[in-house]
Amino acid sequence: MRIAVVGAGWAGLAAAVRATEDGHAVTLFEAAGMPGGRARSDDAGDGATDNGQHILLGGYARTLDLMRTVGADVERALLRMPLRLTYADGSGFALAPAGTRLLAAASALMGARGFAIGDKLSAVAMALDWRRRGFRCPPAMTVAELLRHGPTQRVRARLVEPLCVAALNTPMAEASAAVFLAVMRDTLFGARDASDLLLPQRPLAQLLPLPAVDWLRAHGATVHLRRRVTGLVPDAQRWRLACATGVDDLRHAEAPFDQVILATPAGDAARLAQSVAPAWSAVAASLAHEPIVTLTLTAPPRAWPAPMLALEANDADAPAQFAFKLGEQPAGVDRVTLVVSAAGHWLARGSDAVAAAAVAQYRRTFGIADGEAVDLASVRADKRATFRCTAGMIRPGMDIAPGLRAAGDWVAGPYPATLEAAVLAGEAAARASGACSRLSGLAA
Ligand SMILES: Cc1cc2nc3c(=O)[nH]c(=O)nc-3n(C[C@H](O)[C@H](O)[C@H](O)COP(=O)(O)OP(=O)(O)OC[C@H]3O[C@@H](n4cnc5c(N)ncnc54)[C@H](O)[C@@H]3O)c2cc1C
Repeated sequence: MRIAVVGAGWAGLAAAVRATEDGHAVTLFEAAGMPGGRARSDDAGDGATDNGQHILLGGYARTLDLMRTVGADVERALLRMPLRLTYADGSGFALAPAGTRLLAAASALMGARGFAIGDKLSAVAMALDWRRRGFRCPPAMTVAELLRHGPTQRVRARLVEPLCVAALNTPMAEASAAVFLAVMRDTLFGARDASDLLLPQRPLAQLLPLPAVDWLRAHGATVHLRRRVTGLVPDAQRWRLACATGVDDLRHAEAPFDQVILATPAGDAARLAQSVAPAWSAVAASLAHEPIVTLTLTAPPRAWPAPMLALEANDADAPAQFAFKLGEQPAGVDRVTLVVSAAGHWLARGSDAVAAAAVAQYRRTFGIADGEAVDLASVRADKRATFRCTAGMIRPGMDIAPGLRAAGDWVAGPYPATLEAAVLAGEAAARASGACSRLSGLAA
Protein backbone atom coordinates (compact mmCIF):
# COMPACT_ATOMS: atom_id res chain seq x y z
CA MET A 1 0.00 0.00 0.00
CA ARG A 2 1.20 3.51 -0.77
CA ILE A 3 0.49 5.68 2.25
CA ALA A 4 1.06 9.45 2.34
CA VAL A 5 1.48 11.19 5.68
CA VAL A 6 1.13 14.98 5.54
CA GLY A 7 2.95 16.73 8.40
CA ALA A 8 6.03 15.60 10.34
CA GLY A 9 4.98 16.67 13.83
CA TRP A 10 4.98 13.96 16.49
CA ALA A 11 1.62 12.61 15.21
CA GLY A 12 2.83 12.38 11.60
CA LEU A 13 6.14 10.82 12.64
CA ALA A 14 4.29 8.23 14.74
CA ALA A 15 1.97 7.41 11.83
CA ALA A 16 4.85 7.18 9.34
CA VAL A 17 7.02 4.97 11.60
CA ARG A 18 4.21 2.56 12.50
CA ALA A 19 2.94 2.29 8.90
CA THR A 20 6.50 1.62 7.71
CA GLU A 21 6.90 -1.05 10.40
CA ASP A 22 3.74 -2.66 9.04
CA GLY A 23 5.41 -2.97 5.64
CA HIS A 24 3.70 -0.13 3.76
CA ALA A 25 5.42 2.23 1.31
CA VAL A 26 5.28 5.52 3.19
CA THR A 27 5.90 9.04 1.89
CA LEU A 28 6.06 11.81 4.49
CA PHE A 29 5.52 15.45 3.42
CA GLU A 30 6.56 18.29 5.75
CA ALA A 31 6.17 21.96 4.92
CA ALA A 32 8.97 23.15 7.23
CA GLY A 33 12.70 22.56 6.92
CA MET A 34 12.84 20.77 10.27
CA PRO A 35 10.57 17.94 11.43
CA GLY A 36 8.87 18.09 14.84
CA GLY A 37 6.02 20.58 14.33
CA ARG A 38 5.18 22.44 17.54
CA ALA A 39 7.72 20.30 19.43
CA ARG A 40 10.68 21.12 17.16
CA SER A 41 14.12 22.67 17.52
CA ASP A 42 15.59 25.32 15.26
CA ASP A 43 18.51 23.11 14.25
CA ALA A 44 20.01 19.68 14.77
CA GLY A 45 22.86 20.56 17.14
CA ASP A 46 23.18 20.34 20.92
CA GLY A 47 22.84 24.13 21.23
CA ALA A 48 19.56 24.29 19.31
CA THR A 49 16.61 26.29 20.64
CA ASP A 50 13.28 24.55 21.14
CA ASN A 51 9.86 25.87 20.26
CA GLY A 52 8.93 26.23 23.92
CA GLN A 53 9.64 24.24 27.07
CA HIS A 54 8.14 20.74 26.91
CA ILE A 55 7.63 18.27 29.76
CA LEU A 56 6.86 14.62 29.26
CA LEU A 57 5.28 12.34 31.86
CA GLY A 58 6.09 8.76 32.80
CA GLY A 59 2.60 7.88 31.54
CA TYR A 60 3.52 8.86 27.95
CA ALA A 61 3.84 5.14 27.18
CA ARG A 62 3.36 5.36 23.41
CA THR A 63 5.71 8.33 23.03
CA LEU A 64 8.46 6.60 24.98
CA ASP A 65 7.94 3.40 23.00
CA LEU A 66 8.17 5.34 19.73
CA MET A 67 11.37 7.07 20.87
CA ARG A 68 12.88 3.64 21.62
CA THR A 69 11.72 2.25 18.26
CA VAL A 70 13.63 4.93 16.36
CA GLY A 71 16.73 4.51 18.53
CA ALA A 72 16.54 7.64 20.71
CA ASP A 73 18.43 7.33 23.99
CA VAL A 74 15.42 7.80 26.27
CA GLU A 75 17.25 7.38 29.57
CA ARG A 76 19.90 10.00 28.78
CA ALA A 77 17.63 12.38 26.90
CA LEU A 78 15.10 12.73 29.73
CA LEU A 79 15.68 13.55 33.41
CA ARG A 80 13.14 11.48 35.38
CA MET A 81 11.89 12.57 38.78
CA PRO A 82 8.80 11.78 40.87
CA LEU A 83 6.06 14.39 40.42
CA ARG A 84 6.47 17.38 42.66
CA LEU A 85 4.88 20.77 42.65
CA THR A 86 7.39 22.94 44.48
CA TYR A 87 7.21 26.70 45.00
CA ALA A 88 10.30 28.90 45.33
CA ASP A 89 9.95 28.99 49.13
CA GLY A 90 10.07 25.18 49.25
CA SER A 91 6.34 24.76 49.88
CA GLY A 92 4.29 22.37 47.78
CA PHE A 93 3.94 18.63 47.53
CA ALA A 94 6.03 15.72 46.31
CA LEU A 95 4.68 12.32 45.35
CA ALA A 96 6.44 9.35 46.94
CA PRO A 97 7.80 7.02 44.26
CA ALA A 98 6.48 3.90 46.03
CA GLY A 99 3.12 2.70 47.40
CA THR A 100 -0.33 2.46 45.85
CA ARG A 101 -1.17 5.61 43.93
CA LEU A 102 -4.08 6.70 46.08
CA LEU A 103 -2.05 6.23 49.26
CA ALA A 104 0.97 7.97 47.70
CA ALA A 105 -1.24 10.90 46.62
CA ALA A 106 -2.96 11.08 50.02
CA SER A 107 0.33 11.00 51.91
CA ALA A 108 1.84 13.60 49.54
CA LEU A 109 -1.15 15.88 50.14
CA MET A 110 -1.03 15.35 53.92
CA GLY A 111 2.72 16.00 53.89
CA ALA A 112 2.48 19.09 51.65
CA ARG A 113 4.37 22.10 52.97
CA GLY A 114 2.73 25.51 53.16
CA PHE A 115 -0.82 24.14 53.53
CA ALA A 116 -2.92 24.19 56.74
CA ILE A 117 -4.44 20.96 58.01
CA GLY A 118 -7.87 22.05 56.67
CA ASP A 119 -6.36 22.50 53.18
CA LYS A 120 -4.77 19.08 53.30
CA LEU A 121 -7.92 17.31 54.45
CA SER A 122 -9.94 19.09 51.75
CA ALA A 123 -7.39 18.00 49.12
CA VAL A 124 -7.61 14.36 50.23
CA ALA A 125 -11.43 14.54 50.22
CA MET A 126 -11.24 15.96 46.67
CA ALA A 127 -9.04 13.05 45.51
CA LEU A 128 -11.41 10.53 47.11
CA ASP A 129 -14.37 12.25 45.42
CA TRP A 130 -12.68 11.96 42.00
CA ARG A 131 -12.06 8.29 42.63
CA ARG A 132 -15.61 7.69 43.82
CA ARG A 133 -16.86 9.20 40.55
CA GLY A 134 -14.60 6.76 38.63
CA PHE A 135 -12.79 9.88 37.33
CA ARG A 136 -15.84 10.66 35.21
CA CYS A 137 -18.26 13.59 35.02
CA PRO A 138 -20.73 15.13 32.54
CA PRO A 139 -18.98 16.44 29.40
CA ALA A 140 -20.26 20.01 29.88
CA MET A 141 -18.79 20.37 33.40
CA THR A 142 -15.85 22.73 33.90
CA VAL A 143 -12.99 22.09 36.34
CA ALA A 144 -14.21 25.06 38.40
CA GLU A 145 -17.66 23.43 38.65
CA LEU A 146 -16.09 20.10 39.59
CA LEU A 147 -14.45 21.85 42.56
CA ARG A 148 -17.50 23.91 43.54
CA HIS A 149 -18.20 22.08 46.80
CA GLY A 150 -14.68 20.80 47.19
CA PRO A 151 -11.30 21.99 48.33
CA THR A 152 -10.21 25.21 49.99
CA GLN A 153 -9.25 28.29 47.97
CA ARG A 154 -5.56 27.63 48.68
CA VAL A 155 -5.78 24.08 47.29
CA ARG A 156 -7.57 25.38 44.19
CA ALA A 157 -5.04 28.15 43.58
CA ARG A 158 -1.81 26.36 44.47
CA LEU A 159 -2.58 22.79 43.47
CA VAL A 160 -5.44 22.32 41.01
CA GLU A 161 -5.06 25.49 38.90
CA PRO A 162 -1.35 24.85 38.11
CA LEU A 163 -2.10 21.21 37.23
CA CYS A 164 -5.05 22.29 35.08
CA VAL A 165 -3.25 24.95 33.04
CA ALA A 166 -0.16 22.75 32.69
CA ALA A 167 -2.18 19.80 31.40
CA LEU A 168 -5.04 21.46 29.47
CA ASN A 169 -3.60 24.92 28.66
CA THR A 170 -7.04 26.25 29.56
CA PRO A 171 -8.12 28.16 32.70
CA MET A 172 -10.15 26.21 35.30
CA ALA A 173 -13.23 28.35 34.74
CA GLU A 174 -13.57 26.97 31.19
CA ALA A 175 -11.49 23.77 31.19
CA SER A 176 -13.18 20.41 30.58
CA ALA A 177 -13.48 18.52 33.86
CA ALA A 178 -13.92 15.23 31.94
CA VAL A 179 -10.55 15.63 30.22
CA PHE A 180 -8.88 16.87 33.42
CA LEU A 181 -10.15 13.83 35.33
CA ALA A 182 -8.92 11.49 32.56
CA VAL A 183 -5.44 13.03 32.90
CA MET A 184 -5.54 12.69 36.70
CA ARG A 185 -6.73 9.06 36.44
CA ASP A 186 -3.91 8.06 34.09
CA THR A 187 -1.09 10.04 35.69
CA LEU A 188 -1.47 10.98 39.36
CA PHE A 189 -3.61 7.90 40.08
CA GLY A 190 -2.33 5.68 37.25
CA ALA A 191 0.55 3.22 37.08
CA ARG A 192 3.34 3.72 39.61
CA ASP A 193 5.68 5.79 37.41
CA ALA A 194 2.95 7.39 35.25
CA SER A 195 3.11 10.72 37.06
CA ASP A 196 6.92 10.98 36.92
CA LEU A 197 8.15 14.18 35.33
CA LEU A 198 10.48 13.63 32.37
CA LEU A 199 12.42 16.82 31.69
CA PRO A 200 14.23 17.00 28.33
CA GLN A 201 18.01 17.17 28.67
CA ARG A 202 18.54 17.54 24.94
CA PRO A 203 16.91 19.69 22.27
CA LEU A 204 13.49 18.34 21.29
CA ALA A 205 14.72 17.52 17.76
CA GLN A 206 17.01 14.86 19.24
CA LEU A 207 14.24 13.28 21.33
CA LEU A 208 12.18 12.09 18.39
CA PRO A 209 12.00 14.13 15.16
CA LEU A 210 15.55 13.66 13.83
CA PRO A 211 16.00 10.01 14.92
CA ALA A 212 12.56 9.26 13.43
CA VAL A 213 13.46 10.80 10.06
CA ASP A 214 16.75 8.85 10.01
CA TRP A 215 14.89 5.66 10.95
CA LEU A 216 12.26 6.22 8.23
CA ARG A 217 14.87 6.78 5.53
CA ALA A 218 16.87 3.75 6.69
CA HIS A 219 13.71 1.63 6.47
CA GLY A 220 12.84 2.66 2.91
CA ALA A 221 10.32 5.46 3.54
CA THR A 222 10.55 8.71 1.59
CA VAL A 223 10.74 11.93 3.60
CA HIS A 224 10.21 15.27 1.83
CA LEU A 225 11.07 18.31 3.97
CA ARG A 226 10.11 21.82 2.74
CA ARG A 227 7.27 20.33 0.76
CA ARG A 228 3.85 21.74 1.56
CA VAL A 229 0.83 19.78 0.40
CA THR A 230 -1.60 22.26 -1.13
CA GLY A 231 -4.38 20.07 -2.45
CA LEU A 232 -6.00 16.69 -2.24
CA VAL A 233 -7.74 15.18 -5.27
CA PRO A 234 -9.68 11.89 -5.28
CA ASP A 235 -8.59 9.63 -8.14
CA ALA A 236 -10.41 6.30 -8.64
CA GLN A 237 -10.56 5.35 -4.92
CA ARG A 238 -7.08 6.73 -4.40
CA TRP A 239 -5.71 10.16 -3.63
CA ARG A 240 -3.43 12.52 -5.50
CA LEU A 241 -1.60 15.23 -3.61
CA ALA A 242 -0.73 18.63 -5.03
CA CYS A 243 2.43 20.15 -3.61
CA ALA A 244 4.07 23.54 -3.65
CA THR A 245 7.79 23.14 -3.95
CA GLY A 246 8.29 26.81 -4.67
CA VAL A 247 6.09 29.88 -4.59
CA ASP A 248 4.60 29.36 -8.07
CA ASP A 249 5.33 25.72 -8.59
CA LEU A 250 2.10 23.83 -8.00
CA ARG A 251 2.05 20.31 -9.35
CA HIS A 252 0.91 16.79 -8.65
CA ALA A 253 3.80 15.32 -6.73
CA GLU A 254 3.52 11.60 -6.99
CA ALA A 255 1.53 8.67 -8.26
CA PRO A 256 -1.76 8.27 -6.39
CA PHE A 257 -1.79 7.04 -2.78
CA ASP A 258 -4.05 4.30 -1.42
CA GLN A 259 -4.31 6.00 1.97
CA VAL A 260 -3.61 9.54 3.18
CA ILE A 261 -3.12 10.65 6.77
CA LEU A 262 -3.46 14.38 7.41
CA ALA A 263 -1.19 15.00 10.41
CA THR A 264 -1.22 18.80 10.14
CA PRO A 265 -2.71 21.28 12.62
CA ALA A 266 -6.52 21.29 12.58
CA GLY A 267 -6.85 24.43 10.44
CA ASP A 268 -4.60 23.06 7.66
CA ALA A 269 -6.42 19.71 7.70
CA ALA A 270 -9.75 21.56 7.49
CA ARG A 271 -8.57 23.48 4.41
CA LEU A 272 -7.15 20.39 2.69
CA ALA A 273 -10.30 18.32 3.31
CA GLN A 274 -12.78 21.17 2.63
CA SER A 275 -13.91 20.04 -0.83
CA VAL A 276 -14.10 16.30 -0.04
CA ALA A 277 -15.58 16.39 3.50
CA PRO A 278 -17.13 19.82 4.20
CA ALA A 279 -18.97 18.72 7.38
CA TRP A 280 -15.82 17.24 8.93
CA SER A 281 -13.86 20.33 7.85
CA ALA A 282 -16.33 22.64 9.56
CA VAL A 283 -15.80 20.86 12.90
CA ALA A 284 -12.00 20.90 12.51
CA ALA A 285 -12.05 24.60 11.55
CA SER A 286 -14.20 25.48 14.56
CA LEU A 287 -11.58 24.54 17.19
CA ALA A 288 -10.45 27.55 19.21
CA HIS A 289 -6.79 27.86 20.20
CA GLU A 290 -4.92 29.07 23.26
CA PRO A 291 -1.42 30.60 23.31
CA ILE A 292 1.62 29.72 25.41
CA VAL A 293 4.33 32.31 26.00
CA THR A 294 7.86 31.12 26.76
CA LEU A 295 10.44 33.56 28.10
CA THR A 296 14.13 32.98 28.72
CA LEU A 297 16.19 35.22 30.96
CA THR A 298 19.40 35.39 32.90
CA ALA A 299 19.29 36.46 36.54
CA PRO A 300 21.50 36.65 39.63
CA PRO A 301 22.07 33.14 41.01
CA ARG A 302 19.61 31.88 43.62
CA ALA A 303 19.18 28.52 45.34
CA TRP A 304 16.21 26.67 43.87
CA PRO A 305 14.55 23.85 45.83
CA ALA A 306 13.87 21.97 42.54
CA PRO A 307 14.81 22.45 38.84
CA MET A 308 11.14 23.06 37.99
CA LEU A 309 9.19 25.47 40.18
CA ALA A 310 5.54 26.41 40.34
CA LEU A 311 5.05 30.19 40.59
CA GLU A 312 2.24 32.12 42.26
CA ALA A 313 0.35 33.34 39.17
CA ASN A 314 -2.56 35.76 38.96
CA ASP A 315 -4.38 37.73 36.27
CA ALA A 316 -3.25 41.13 37.56
CA ASP A 317 0.54 41.13 37.67
CA ALA A 318 1.93 37.56 37.69
CA PRO A 319 1.52 35.74 34.36
CA ALA A 320 4.00 32.83 34.65
CA GLN A 321 2.91 29.54 36.24
CA PHE A 322 6.20 27.65 35.98
CA ALA A 323 9.94 28.32 35.96
CA PHE A 324 12.70 25.94 34.85
CA LYS A 325 16.43 25.92 35.54
CA LEU A 326 17.70 22.97 33.57
CA GLY A 327 21.06 21.75 32.31
CA GLU A 328 24.48 23.19 32.97
CA GLN A 329 24.33 26.79 34.18
CA PRO A 330 26.78 29.50 33.10
CA ALA A 331 29.09 30.75 35.86
CA GLY A 332 27.61 33.49 38.04
CA VAL A 333 24.09 33.62 36.58
CA ASP A 334 20.92 31.55 36.47
CA ARG A 335 19.61 30.77 32.97
CA VAL A 336 15.87 30.45 33.45
CA THR A 337 12.82 29.62 31.34
CA LEU A 338 9.42 30.99 32.38
CA VAL A 339 6.19 29.55 30.97
CA VAL A 340 2.87 31.36 30.69
CA SER A 341 0.19 28.81 29.77
CA ALA A 342 -3.41 29.70 28.91
CA ALA A 343 -1.90 33.04 27.92
CA GLY A 344 -4.74 34.42 25.76
CA HIS A 345 -5.87 37.17 28.12
CA TRP A 346 -2.25 38.14 28.85
CA LEU A 347 -1.26 38.32 25.17
CA ALA A 348 -4.22 40.62 24.54
CA ARG A 349 -2.14 43.22 26.46
CA GLY A 350 0.80 42.68 24.06
CA SER A 351 3.91 40.51 24.42
CA ASP A 352 5.98 43.42 25.82
CA ALA A 353 3.48 43.74 28.68
CA VAL A 354 3.62 39.97 29.35
CA ALA A 355 7.42 40.07 29.39
CA ALA A 356 7.60 43.08 31.72
CA ALA A 357 5.10 41.51 34.13
CA ALA A 358 6.89 38.14 34.08
CA VAL A 359 10.28 39.72 34.82
CA ALA A 360 8.78 41.75 37.69
CA GLN A 361 7.11 38.58 38.99
CA TYR A 362 10.46 36.76 38.85
CA ARG A 363 12.17 39.58 40.75
CA ARG A 364 9.51 39.51 43.48
CA THR A 365 9.59 35.71 43.76
CA PHE A 366 13.35 35.57 44.27
CA GLY A 367 13.78 38.90 46.09
CA ILE A 368 16.02 40.39 43.39
CA ALA A 369 16.80 44.03 44.13
CA ASP A 370 16.37 46.81 41.52
CA GLY A 371 20.14 47.21 41.23
CA GLU A 372 20.63 43.58 40.18
CA ALA A 373 20.25 42.79 36.48
CA VAL A 374 17.63 40.43 35.12
CA ASP A 375 18.15 40.24 31.34
CA LEU A 376 15.39 39.03 29.10
CA ALA A 377 16.96 36.89 26.35
CA SER A 378 13.87 35.85 24.36
CA VAL A 379 10.09 35.98 24.32
CA ARG A 380 8.30 33.41 22.19
CA ALA A 381 4.53 33.67 21.87
CA ASP A 382 2.93 30.63 20.25
CA LYS A 383 -0.55 31.95 19.48
CA ARG A 384 -1.97 28.58 18.43
CA ALA A 385 -0.03 26.44 20.90
CA THR A 386 -2.91 24.02 21.58
CA PHE A 387 -6.65 23.86 21.12
CA ARG A 388 -8.69 25.31 24.02
CA CYS A 389 -9.78 22.25 25.95
CA THR A 390 -13.12 23.67 27.10
CA ALA A 391 -16.05 21.84 28.67
CA GLY A 392 -18.45 20.31 26.14
CA MET A 393 -16.26 21.06 23.11
CA ILE A 394 -16.59 18.84 20.03
CA ARG A 395 -13.40 17.54 18.40
CA PRO A 396 -13.37 16.07 14.89
CA GLY A 397 -12.95 12.30 14.59
CA MET A 398 -10.14 10.44 12.85
CA ASP A 399 -12.12 9.29 9.78
CA ILE A 400 -12.57 11.99 7.15
CA ALA A 401 -13.43 10.01 4.00
CA PRO A 402 -12.60 6.53 2.66
CA GLY A 403 -8.80 6.26 2.64
CA LEU A 404 -8.42 9.68 4.27
CA ARG A 405 -7.77 10.10 8.01
CA ALA A 406 -6.65 12.74 10.46
CA ALA A 407 -3.94 12.49 13.11
CA GLY A 408 -2.96 15.18 15.58
CA ASP A 409 -3.27 16.21 19.21
CA TRP A 410 -6.65 17.79 18.34
CA VAL A 411 -8.39 14.66 16.99
CA ALA A 412 -11.16 13.30 19.28
CA GLY A 413 -9.67 11.39 22.19
CA PRO A 414 -9.53 11.28 25.97
CA TYR A 415 -6.56 13.61 26.43
CA PRO A 416 -5.79 17.30 25.94
CA ALA A 417 -3.24 18.51 23.36
CA THR A 418 -0.01 16.78 24.36
CA LEU A 419 2.81 14.89 22.74
CA GLU A 420 1.23 11.64 23.94
CA ALA A 421 -2.15 12.57 22.41
CA ALA A 422 -0.37 13.34 19.11
CA VAL A 423 1.51 10.03 19.10
CA LEU A 424 -1.62 8.06 20.05
CA ALA A 425 -3.54 9.72 17.20
CA GLY A 426 -0.72 9.01 14.72
CA GLU A 427 -0.54 5.37 15.72
CA ALA A 428 -4.33 4.98 15.55
CA ALA A 429 -4.42 6.46 12.03
CA ALA A 430 -1.59 4.17 10.88
CA ARG A 431 -3.34 1.14 12.37
CA ALA A 432 -6.66 2.01 10.72
CA SER A 433 -4.99 2.64 7.34
CA GLY A 434 -3.18 -0.71 7.58
CA ALA A 435 -6.38 -2.51 8.58
CA CYS A 436 -8.11 -1.05 5.51
CA SER A 437 -5.37 -2.36 3.27
CA ARG A 438 -5.74 -5.82 4.73
CA LEU A 439 -9.53 -5.69 4.28
CA SER A 440 -9.26 -4.56 0.66
CA GLY A 441 -6.65 -7.30 0.14
CA LEU A 442 -9.14 -9.87 1.48
CA ALA A 443 -11.92 -8.51 -0.73
CA ALA A 444 -9.67 -8.81 -3.78
C1 LIG B 1 5.03 26.27 23.62
C2 LIG B 1 4.43 24.88 23.71
C3 LIG B 1 4.63 24.13 24.86
C4 LIG B 1 4.10 22.85 24.94
N1 LIG B 1 4.36 22.10 26.06
C5 LIG B 1 4.00 20.80 26.09
C6 LIG B 1 4.40 19.95 27.15
O1 LIG B 1 5.06 20.39 28.09
N2 LIG B 1 4.04 18.64 27.12
C7 LIG B 1 3.30 18.12 26.09
O2 LIG B 1 3.04 16.91 26.09
N3 LIG B 1 2.89 18.90 25.06
C8 LIG B 1 3.22 20.22 25.03
N4 LIG B 1 2.84 21.01 23.98
C9 LIG B 1 1.93 20.44 22.96
C10 LIG B 1 2.70 19.62 21.91
O3 LIG B 1 3.76 20.36 21.37
C11 LIG B 1 1.73 19.25 20.81
O4 LIG B 1 0.63 18.57 21.38
C12 LIG B 1 2.32 18.35 19.74
O5 LIG B 1 3.58 18.79 19.33
C13 LIG B 1 1.36 18.32 18.55
O6 LIG B 1 1.88 17.47 17.54
P1 LIG B 1 1.09 17.23 16.20
O7 LIG B 1 1.92 16.30 15.38
O8 LIG B 1 -0.30 16.84 16.50
O9 LIG B 1 0.97 18.64 15.45
P2 LIG B 1 2.10 19.66 14.97
O10 LIG B 1 3.25 19.61 15.88
O11 LIG B 1 1.43 20.97 14.79
O12 LIG B 1 2.60 19.09 13.56
C14 LIG B 1 1.96 19.38 12.34
C15 LIG B 1 3.01 19.44 11.24
O13 LIG B 1 2.33 19.58 9.98
C16 LIG B 1 3.11 20.45 9.15
N5 LIG B 1 2.20 20.96 8.11
C17 LIG B 1 1.15 21.82 8.25
N6 LIG B 1 0.53 21.99 7.05
C18 LIG B 1 1.20 21.23 6.15
C19 LIG B 1 1.01 20.98 4.77
N7 LIG B 1 0.00 21.54 4.09
N8 LIG B 1 1.89 20.14 4.14
C20 LIG B 1 2.90 19.56 4.84
N9 LIG B 1 3.12 19.76 6.16
C21 LIG B 1 2.26 20.58 6.81
C22 LIG B 1 3.60 21.50 10.13
O14 LIG B 1 4.71 22.21 9.61
C23 LIG B 1 3.95 20.64 11.35
O15 LIG B 1 5.28 20.19 11.28
C24 LIG B 1 3.32 22.30 23.88
C25 LIG B 1 3.11 23.07 22.73
C26 LIG B 1 3.65 24.35 22.64
C27 LIG B 1 3.42 25.14 21.38
